Amino acid sequence: MHFIPLMQPDISEDDIAAVTSVLRSGMLVQGKNSEAFEQTIAAFLGCRHVVTVANGTASLHLALAALNIRHGHEVIVPAFSYPATANVVELVGATPVFVDIQLSDFNIDVSKIEQAITPKTKAIIPVHEFGVACEISKLMEISEKHNLFVVEDAACALGAKENGKHVGSFGGIGSFSLHPRKSITSGEGGFITTNDNALASKIRVLRNHGMKTENGKMIFEEAGFNYRLTDFQCALALSQFKRYNDIVKRKQEIAEIYLNGLASNTKLQLPATFNNRNHTWQTFHTIVSDSISRDVMIDKLRKKNIGTNYGAQCIPIQDFYFKKYNLDCAKLFPNAMHAYMNGIAFPMYNRLKDEEVKYIVQTVNELTGN
Ligand SMILES: *Cc1c(COP(=O)(O)O)cnc(C)c1O
Repeated sequence: MHFIPLMQPDISEDDIAAVTSVLRSGMLVQGKNSEAFEQTIAAFLGCRHVVTVANGTASLHLALAALNIRHGHEVIVPAFSYPATANVVELVGATPVFVDIQLSDFNIDVSKIEQAITPKTKAIIPVHEFGVACEISKLMEISEKHNLFVVEDAACALGAKENGKHVGSFGGIGSFSLHPRKSITSGEGGFITTNDNALASKIRVLRNHGMKTENGKMIFEEAGFNYRLTDFQCALALSQFKRYNDIVKRKQEIAEIYLNGLASNTKLQLPATFNNRNHTWQTFHTIVSDSISRDVMIDKLRKKNIGTNYGAQCIPIQDFYFKKYNLDCAKLFPNAMHAYMNGIAFPMYNRLKDEEVKYIVQTVNELTGN
């Protein structure tokens, strides 16, 4: 078998044509594709405003800046995610307060949020990890009771829903990424969603150097960022989005081959599926039993031409956070630590062929003695 990477973007001839047409037009930034993408996604998600930004981290950073979250404030984040979720809290000078996850969906354990709230808490950033919604309605009840902002980190969950409602449309702000590891890509890229008109305007101003135009005059009303996305990237994202349903449908088929083929593997805990929450399969994430070394398994799979990797990180044990806060992660975040130490993500992208998935299943079963 040839090498099967963990992820491969799906770039079609139409995508390439969409990008080159913008390049030929000479309008490289802030052209019509940004607006078209924003309107298309707003209609898809059922959100009033969508604002394209440079990437998913810029999107979270901009969200916190627009909410005026700063030094002296605390923001609740799951202990298990991509570190960007907590990094942006540090970047605005606030303090991330970590809450453990549950192992069923690898998302924040909503029952543990209230005990983490203090008078300094301003916001919660729940993550919809691996393409499935967290228990967002329950979380919204808590945030409303305590008057906290919610910034949904939906970086890897475009199209995920709870009871038919899209992630990114529950909280005050939703944040998405268009990195090649996500379901559709613009290379680097991201976007923010909100239903709040004032927040949307502020986000647009902050995205563009803190500038607004009034009667054709430039007014710099904030010390802003340049977090704009180029128009050729928006053209790519828009072209990719046309295939969104096909991409997720194919990933669902792949997930079923994995789930059936690995169902009787006693060494692997497979990802759960839920009645009221669809899985968009950004990642196929499993947990290996303690009797197997996850890192040895990654090495052995690589030797068999299969690319796998960790799913996400236990953030408070990463160098920066450990040096700064020195938290007893095994005691405080046992599930995040277990997912971090034993988690393994298998190849998942729509161009994977059935034979490749079956080869992976067979190899994994052989290597784990099943
Ligand atoms: C990918 C990802 C990000 C970062 O997005 P970028 O576009 O790479 O900056 C943030 N949070 C989560 C949960 C992610 O999966």
